[in-house]
Amino acid sequence: MTELMLAARDLKMYFPTYKGVLFRKQDSLIQAVNGVTLDLFKGETLGLVGESGCGKTTLGRTLIRLYSPTDGHIELCGQDITRLDGAALRKHRSNIQMIFQDPYASLDPRMTVFDIIAEPIRACEKVLARKELEKTVADLMETVGLSSRYIRKYPHEFSGGQRQRIAIARAVAIRPKVILCDEPVSALDVSIQAQILNLLKDLQKEFHLSYLFIAHDISVVRYISDRIAVMYLGKIVELANTEDLFGSPQHPYTKALLSAVPLADPRKERVREQILLHGDLPSPAHPPSGCPFHTRCPWKMDVCTRVVPPNFKAGEGHHAACHLLDEKLMTKQ
Ligand code: SF4
Repeated sequence: MTELMLAARDLKMYFPTYKGVLFRKQDSLIQAVNGVTLDLFKGETLGLVGESGCGKTTLGRTLIRLYSPTDGHIELCGQDITRLDGAALRKHRSNIQMIFQDPYASLDPRMTVFDIIAEPIRACEKVLARKELEKTVADLMETVGLSSRYIRKYPHEFSGGQRQRIAIARAVAIRPKVILCDEPVSALDVSIQAQILNLLKDLQKEFHLSYLFIAHDISVVRYISDRIAVMYLGKIVELANTEDLFGSPQHPYTKALLSAVPLADPRKERVREQILLHGDLPSPAHPPSGCPFHTRCPWKMDVCTRVVPPNFKAGEGHHAACHLLDEKLMTKQ
């Protein structure tokens, strides 16, 4: 797992807000993504977790260049795509596809399954004869567990799980290298979620895909991810492989998130101590000084309100942005 497929360096995505009706003046900047650095390697699944409004979806959409970043760099398969647009960007987009949260909204109700799955193939300027295209789409349907007999049907004739399978077939149709999965199972029944996650795992092996998997449900992320990045107020506050993150979380925010997950063992569940966070996520238009988590952190120190914590190493490939990991500082306390 060494080939780098997608990389972000100090990525920032700010959105201006305006006030006034006649004379619109810039009011503030929403710092949705604020200095994110991360890597996605070939064949791996990198989970991205955090509560609603922390910037996960904006980060995903900036990485695939649905937005033009305010600052920083993005590399896709070794190519700098940070400032590409038009035809140059479209050329690289074939390497990256997206699966959206809501299979009811993400499929055009006026298009048949054939047209939906064939659309990215046609957009990629792959000129296939009609018969050949039909065979390709039929094969893709079978690959994702749908009978190709339904090729002429419309999205409303399918269940939620089947619609998500159509969306997945469309995403893999042009053999991308990276797929951004944005909450792909959160709109589905729990019984269907595992089937879709297993399908994603199977396709990953078959097509050597790399997934950036965004979800707020940490159990879902644990099931599918090799590594997990925890996001808070536009920043990655902890990054580790899945086992280390669950076995030895370092950042107080990660500890609080994990403490809210019910345990399967009833004896452990009875004694589970939950870390309750007080207050809401601060506004990304006016993030707190110092550590962004200091307004809610049960372990806050003086330094936390003044100094932004850098990333401290907590183990092999394990980093967390918290002053509690600063040995020099802690020996002075
Ligand atoms: Fe809490 Fe301070 Fe660590 Fe931030 S740096 S998470 S406020 S202890």
